[in-house]
Amino acid sequence: MQIRTAEFEISASEVGGCPQDALPEFAFIGRSNVGKSSLINALTNRKNLCRVSKTPGRTRLINCFKVNEDWRLVDLPGYGFVKTGKKDRGVFEELIGRYFVEREGLSCCFVLIDSRHSPQTVDLDFTAWLTANAVPFVLVFTKADKLKPNPLQRNVDAFLKAMEEFSSALPRVLVTSAQSGEGRQELLKFIGLCLASSGAE
Ligand code: GDP
Repeated sequence: MQIRTAEFEISASEVGGCPQDALPEFAFIGRSNVGKSSLINALTNRKNLCRVSKTPGRTRLINCFKVNEDWRLVDLPGYGFVKTGKKDRGVFEELIGRYFVEREGLSCCFVLIDSRHSPQTVDLDFTAWLTANAVPFVLVFTKADKLKPNPLQRNVDAFLKAMEEFSSALPRVLVTSAQSGEGRQELLKFIGLCLASSGAE
């Protein structure tokens, strides 16, 4: 798939503030610093598309971008903030939870995992939640340029193995690097296939 246009639509503090049309959408989520903004920029070939998501005050919002006029890329707030108080975290998780329950146009969620690390509880907990709620998702390992193929594969395998505790059908895995462009075509191809099967493209 070619990216022809990519434009910022809206930042929403509540799910109800997201656009109300029926465009198919693809959500991106992961721990802060996982490389989400870099990947979204690399994917859309825009240097600064995600600048808006980094603006102070907007990091806790749902940021929506329209791509090629016919699908939506949704940048969800990063989870697992160490510094967030318990109360804040509750509000935050409710926002994310409601997003997945309420957005009917959601086609797939891309869960970004830093490929340098062994499985982290916060990522496993989140994928367990998606599994329990029947949300379709793909694991996207980021920053692949930072380590050699063998350790990278070990981390991917360890994550999938840990997921076997709560999931019988393991998700699709994509390995990416915003720096080298690895995995970009595969990710776009996957989005294209989802759109084709939903009749959008
Ligand atoms: P976000 O907080 O998840 O949006 O993460 P960012 O996209 O801001 O990236 C966090 C840090 O990781 C930045 O210093 C990026 O330059 C770096 N980074 C992101 N993606 C990659 C990648 O693919 N390779 C490398 N080497 N560094 C990356």
